[in-house]
Amino acid sequence: MNHAYEELKPYLERVLAFQTAKILFEWDNETLAPKEAERNTTRVVGILSGEYFSVITDERVKELVRRCEEERDSLTQVERAVVRELKEEMERLERVPKEEYREFAELTARSTGIWARAKKENDFDSFAPVLKKIVEYTKKFASYRAKEGQRLYDVMLYDYEKGFDVETLDRFFGVLKEQLVPFLKKLTDSGKTIDNGFLTGDYREEDQEAVGRFFAEYVGFDFDRGVMAVSAHPFTTNLHNKDVRITTSYNDHVDDSLFSVIHESGHAIYELGIPDELTQTLVGQGTSMGMHESQSRFFENIIGRNENFWVPVYEKLQERFPKQLGSVTMEQFVRGINKVEPSLIRTQADELTYSLHVLIRYEIEKMLIEEDLDVEKLPDIWADKYEEYLGVRPKQVSEGVLQDIHWSQGSFGYFPSYALGSAFGAQLYHYMKGQMDFEGLLRRGDLGPIREFLREHIHRYGKLKTSRQILKDVTGEDFNPQYYVDYLTEKYGKLYGVERD
Ligand code: ZN
Repeated sequence: MNHAYEELKPYLERVLAFQTAKILFEWDNETLAPKEAERNTTRVVGILSGEYFSVITDERVKELVRRCEEERDSLTQVERAVVRELKEEMERLERVPKEEYREFAELTARSTGIWARAKKENDFDSFAPVLKKIVEYTKKFASYRAKEGQRLYDVMLYDYEKGFDVETLDRFFGVLKEQLVPFLKKLTDSGKTIDNGFLTGDYREEDQEAVGRFFAEYVGFDFDRGVMAVSAHPFTTNLHNKDVRITTSYNDHVDDSLFSVIHESGHAIYELGIPDELTQTLVGQGTSMGMHESQSRFFENIIGRNENFWVPVYEKLQERFPKQLGSVTMEQFVRGINKVEPSLIRTQADELTYSLHVLIRYEIEKMLIEEDLDVEKLPDIWADKYEEYLGVRPKQVSEGVLQDIHWSQGSFGYFPSYALGSAFGAQLYHYMKGQMDFEGLLRRGDLGPIREFLREHIHRYGKLKTSRQILKDVTGEDFNPQYYVDYLTEKYGKLYGVERD
């Protein structure tokens, strides 16, 4: 037993308590809180954030962290990881002068509202000056934290995905650009179309909810340790491994809620798989944005949009929606939920074109951070890239450069993890197929062994390993984006009857 670590424990517990309370308020704001609650809640959350900041930057805590590092050999693996996370968070909070931190918090509190208005009014000029300031702050903050010779964009990427820098991502997105862009062009030029009109219509909300609950449970969401609510945009909130919450939203496209529930269940299953030993510690969450997205997209796409997944359950869906799906065969349904259609909006993109939306954002972020791109030029650059990679061109900024909230929050470096997640998933899928009768398990409705594999090799480590380390340990190979491209071109080549060059 290490004395310094023992002394650190009550501080760590306070950190976690403040964090848990903040997360619970965020959840409440998006789901149940009345509109007028916001002002008072914001004040309470502000106080909690201040307390969180004070504990982490407490002189005594710093001293204890220093001692733990000196006595590293007497710490367990989990304790070492906790100290590492605490130190990183301490540095993240401290490198930036308090005054500038406050200014930036105020700026971003305003900027999301300005962005939302600009998007609604289709007016980029009203957002441009704010965005320019946000980029300046973000770069300045990164420069405070950069190690000697480190690129600013690499500092930002580190926050979301350790082990992936510009060099690695250039290679990754290069593969997507070289192989997926021409494949997509060939597919759209083939003129083959898929009908999925039956997915839109009079799908009653109560029925969608019942179906959502059924599929959440079917893929492994545990309603004794989680709840499902409604919010404007679906998301997952994680308090600890006995309380993980998902949301969904309903409209007249039944596949939207259906697949968002399976997606969020994937996030939730990750967090539910964190062992008791790690939960409610600084390493008791999913290891990174990308690995999280790999699990959600694994459940949504690799499992949920797989023909075999529907073999045991399609009839259940038909029974619930006899009018809409009674005469639609399972084959037609599976083709429908896999329809490829290059479009302008990332969040509505199909599995094949999705990562090209992310590629565009990655290239633009790099230009903004590394090449001082003038923000005024963004709408045109955005439109040109959409035309080049996806063959569609936004007519207005609301469906172009203003569609995502991320930049208005100062989240640069976040987007790449969306595409990385899909690629991690494909690499895992390739490996798992060699280890188990994956497709047979889906056909038999036996998802347990698949989930257990993910828990055993990924979930139970929390933040003890990075995403890259996990991939290496599971598949015996470093991150390799080729699996992702092969998975997509094989699946969609077959579906559309086109071959890759
Ligand atoms: Zn997600």
